[in-house]
Amino acid sequence: MYYVSTRNKKLEYTPAQAISQGLSREGGLFLPASLPRLPGNALNTLKDMSYQQRAVYVMGMYLTHFTTAELTAYTAKAYGPDKFDTRAVAPVRKVDDTTYCLELWHGPTCAFKDMALQMLPHLLTASMRKNYDNRTVCILVATSGDTGKAAMEGFRDVDQTKILVFYPKDGVSEVQGLQMKTQEGQNVGVCSVVGNFDDAQTGVKTLFSDEQLREELGEKNTFLSSANSINWGRVLPQIVYYISAYCDLLRDDEIKQGEAINVCVPTGNFGNILAAYYAKEMGVPINKLICASNSNNVLTDFLQTGTYDRNRPFYTTVSPSMDILISSNLERLLYAMSGNDDVKVAGYMAELAEKGCYTVDEAMQKKIKSLFAAGFSDEESTKAAISRMWKEHDYLIDTHTAVAFHVLDSYRKETGDETKTVVASTASPFKFCDAVLEAVGVTELKQGAELLDQLSEVTGVPVPRPLAGLRDKKVRFEGWVQKEQMKAVVKGFLK
Ligand SMILES: *Cc1c(COP(=O)(O)O)cnc(C)c1O
Repeated sequence: MYYVSTRNKKLEYTPAQAISQGLSREGGLFLPASLPRLPGNALNTLKDMSYQQRAVYVMGMYLTHFTTAELTAYTAKAYGPDKFDTRAVAPVRKVDDTTYCLELWHGPTCAFKDMALQMLPHLLTASMRKNYDNRTVCILVATSGDTGKAAMEGFRDVDQTKILVFYPKDGVSEVQGLQMKTQEGQNVGVCSVVGNFDDAQTGVKTLFSDEQLREELGEKNTFLSSANSINWGRVLPQIVYYISAYCDLLRDDEIKQGEAINVCVPTGNFGNILAAYYAKEMGVPINKLICASNSNNVLTDFLQTGTYDRNRPFYTTVSPSMDILISSNLERLLYAMSGNDDVKVAGYMAELAEKGCYTVDEAMQKKIKSLFAAGFSDEESTKAAISRMWKEHDYLIDTHTAVAFHVLDSYRKETGDETKTVVASTASPFKFCDAVLEAVGVTELKQGAELLDQLSEVTGVPVPRPLAGLRDKKVRFEGWVQKEQMKAVVKGFLK
């Protein structure tokens, strides 16, 4: 199988080239030239397999230049019992007769980014070997919280790699800050930047386009790369868990063979829900893809009207990992909806860069509407959803997952659609203790790691192992810099 770019489908790339390059030269995103389809009996075969085996099967369909032995080794490392606190890896929890929660936060950092970022380092280093590339790759990340930590856990002590993470000094939750300052590993570096997430991200982007830095690093046989969700190596591992969830429902007799389900996903960069779309295209019986946003509801508007307009206020919310106005992975959906029209996609993206908005044509709008439903949740509804789930179902959910439950609720009321639905649960509630505590009615909040115990005492839910361990971890990275100093930090780190 070969890969092409969303903005130029004439050039073909191997899977290893697509993954190690990350972004195509003209700015497009890599994707398979055509999507593979699951053979007729595949879901039945997969339902009796472990999560790791399912991952080998599904990823093997896309990574044709990788051997089964290679993929088996990677899935064992990425999703083993030392990394995930449940053998199921991504378990499906039944909430009520028609609602299921796909828990994607049982990995080392307690957020769904682990599902992909535990796998990416193996895919990336293997891709470099396949390309006879013996350089050291330095992953640079600007993070608003979840990505940077998950990337460090994935890349820590992986040969031929280094990773340096910048985060906004006052822009992450208490627990997220602690997670980063105490990061372990010989090849990791962490630095907070004075300013907000945009400052950190702009700083990193500037470094990527710094020719002088590139040359200097080249002399040391090192190059910069990113771990953000535009890399195909991050989208692919996410397709697996939607297929896996469907297989679990089949295996546990919750659905009949061929029965269609809906999927509801809390969305920011459109990576997670895009993976669900690919699972559907591969042949998993999925009806509606329900896209849930917070107050930054640029995707809700786009999916409902066909106009994407980022010229709008930016809100800081209790679901910070979805505080995004440019959803990069949407470009891959546009490519599919336009019938693989790379010229059209390049045109929309140019409009977005110039004017901050574009409108897709009517045929695309129609197609999008038939596949997707969309809604959003404001801060109050999000907290109400946490409270309701806790009171009615004894189920403690995080703020991002709560956005999805609120949107699902509204969708059902509006449409009367009672199709069984899988909701993607993207983070442990303990990552966002403050907002969750408030939602369950606590007004006097403790601080730092004590928040974890407070939430556990109030609810009786145990603190996840990786977060409970934070209390005794040594702080390794206390420094912070102005954003003008970021280049010096990179040089120092790679000396
Ligand atoms: C990253 C993230 C999201 C959004 O996922 P996208 O792939 O960017 O749509 C949702 N919830 C949590 C907890 C996240 O970390």
